[in-house]
Amino acid sequence: MRLDHQSPIWHPFTQHGLGDRIPLIARGEGARLYDAQGNSWIDAISSWWVTTHGHAHPRIMAAIRDQTERLDQLIFAGWTHAPAETLAAELIRITPDPLTRVFFSDSGSTSVEVALKMALGYWFHIGEPRSRILVLEHSYHGDTIGTMSVGERGVYNRAWQPLLFDVGTIPFPREGMEQATLDALEAACAGRETGSAPAAFIVEPLILGAGGMLIYPAWVLAEMRAICARHGVLFIADEVMTGWGRTGTRFACDSAGVIPDIVCLSKGLTGGAMPLAVTLCIEPIYQAHYSTDRARTFYHSSSYTANPIACAAANANLEIWRDEPVQQRIDTLADAQAAHLAMLSHDPRIANPRRLGTIAALDIVVSDGGYLSNLNPRLIAFYRDRGVLLRPLGNSVYLMPPYCIAPDELAAVWAAIAASLDAVEDMQEAAGFG
Ligand SMILES: *Cc1c(COP(=O)(O)O)cnc(C)c1O
Repeated sequence: MRLDHQSPIWHPFTQHGLGDRIPLIARGEGARLYDAQGNSWIDAISSWWVTTHGHAHPRIMAAIRDQTERLDQLIFAGWTHAPAETLAAELIRITPDPLTRVFFSDSGSTSVEVALKMALGYWFHIGEPRSRILVLEHSYHGDTIGTMSVGERGVYNRAWQPLLFDVGTIPFPREGMEQATLDALEAACAGRETGSAPAAFIVEPLILGAGGMLIYPAWVLAEMRAICARHGVLFIADEVMTGWGRTGTRFACDSAGVIPDIVCLSKGLTGGAMPLAVTLCIEPIYQAHYSTDRARTFYHSSSYTANPIACAAANANLEIWRDEPVQQRIDTLADAQAAHLAMLSHDPRIANPRRLGTIAALDIVVSDGGYLSNLNPRLIAFYRDRGVLLRPLGNSVYLMPPYCIAPDELAAVWAAIAASLDAVEDMQEAAGFG
């Protein structure tokens, strides 16, 4: 079956006017996606950062099948079910002790919205209302109005900027400029910039994903956390992308010894098989809402909050982490990424080779490197036509493969990247510059 743009589907982050072919995928297994004609693609970005153990992992698929025999969906306001209870208890067990409460939702964006509402709810209910949010420059936290507000402003959200709320932006801790970031955060937390203290600071720990795979050191994360603690500003870690092993440890905060006040998890929570998210928080935030007074209820819900089938998939993910050598796979993949990156890192056609755990990235040097340059869709098509699913951010090419990717598959992805460097000049000429 060929779609040829007859489909009524309006795809996300897709400019249909460019007329790109949209492959119709029939099946996924491990690190590969297949169409009905037998073509396959190596999924080098884990289907947008969600698939951790590979597509259609047998254990997760079996857990989903098993749960469908029992309970499909349940109102979660005032009712509960075993898959959610098991999952919540296990999440509390594997995260630092101060995180005591789990709030369910259904996407990364929603988990961030919940985090922001928890933070403001906390200050409101303890009788010290605060509403200012601090964010890190170049951040991405989702595409709803609230999460766009705490993310980088740019071409992706220009049409909606009149609706976005004001935030305090802390400069990204560029190499050599870390102290400037810490000083800016210190001043903002003390309320010196506005005369009032902020409610919370939200960060992507160690690596900014959609902002271009921008990495900063663990000691800066730890310092930022310490500054917030000193000033009593709530520290929100958005681990939606970094969670579940991407950065080398289960959570990015683990490697920095950082314990946030609020943590957002989604993407790899179910191994990437089902939409589910959680927001974990410390006890005082829960206690600020705990009362016989109904006005202090945490008024937030999505229809599919803690969907039992999604929770069953997440429980299977946690069993995989318990029973299979996941950490060893992550370490092996991280080493392989380092070796492949080293082979390209002195190539003058690339800049900023970088890696954190299983994530590797580099920038292709171009005459016009803007995100909207025509090079980006040409690169995506180039890789797609060579059996590789990569989706560079502008001219930043990154790999974030599932941990099961085979050495020859990983080598094929890197070979496609090397081939694209040879082809970039032609692509730029075709795009009308260069
Ligand atoms: C993907 C992402 C989100 C949004 O998650 P969705 O499930 O796409 O809503 C939020 N924060 C970060 C850091 C992300 O990478």
